[in-house]
Amino acid sequence: MTKLDKIKKEAIETHIPIMMDDTLDKITEIIGSRKLHRILEIGTATGYSALCFEKLLDDDGIIDTIERDEERIAKAKSNFELMKVKNINLYEGDAAEIIQTLDNKYDMVFIDANKGKYDFYLDHALRMLSEDGIIFADNILYKGYVMSGYNLHKQRTAVTHLRNYIKKSTEDERLESKIYEVGDGLEVTTWKK
Ligand code: SAH
Ligand code: MG
Repeated sequence: MTKLDKIKKEAIETHIPIMMDDTLDKITEIIGSRKLHRILEIGTATGYSALCFEKLLDDDGIIDTIERDEERIAKAKSNFELMKVKNINLYEGDAAEIIQTLDNKYDMVFIDANKGKYDFYLDHALRMLSEDGIIFADNILYKGYVMSGYNLHKQRTAVTHLRNYIKKSTEDERLESKIYEVGDGLEVTTWKK
């Protein structure tokens, strides 16, 4: 088992909702042979997905990733050390606040945190998205709730915001968006060519 497999296994065993294998496969397929210079990730957890994306970077590429949970921050830091990566910047705190302070050009944005802020994150992702940049929104179908009339009170706010994300990203004339039924649903958004 590789070190990364161990990090993945530990996350699964501690019930951390990490990116699913078919989601990673789809992202890898879409990126293809391109090398990315800067990636923004919203929702680090223990660093598993960031460590997978690290392989997509060019030689001096950087990942900025945001997490607010203290235990997960500590684990992510130790995982980045274990993997000897120095090009992953971990921002500690609420992504909804931190994202407003960022001003870089991103070739890829991976949105994978609180669903109630997805549409807000989209606005900022677009503000910083490079000309050929790609935004991936994980969990966009949220266990099927997003596409069905049925949802419990508990999920209603999340579902409303996810639907708003889909509406914004598919109705905006400047954008091209597509939803894939991999993992918990993955939406891919790029600038229209
Ligand atoms: N991308 C990770 C999984 C992320 S799980 C992977 O695939 O390996 C979602 C994470 O988002 C959780 O760890 C949660 O603590 C974090 N999160 C939720 N809301 C947040 C917020 N407002 N700001 C920062 N992190 C947040
Ligand atoms: Mg996810």
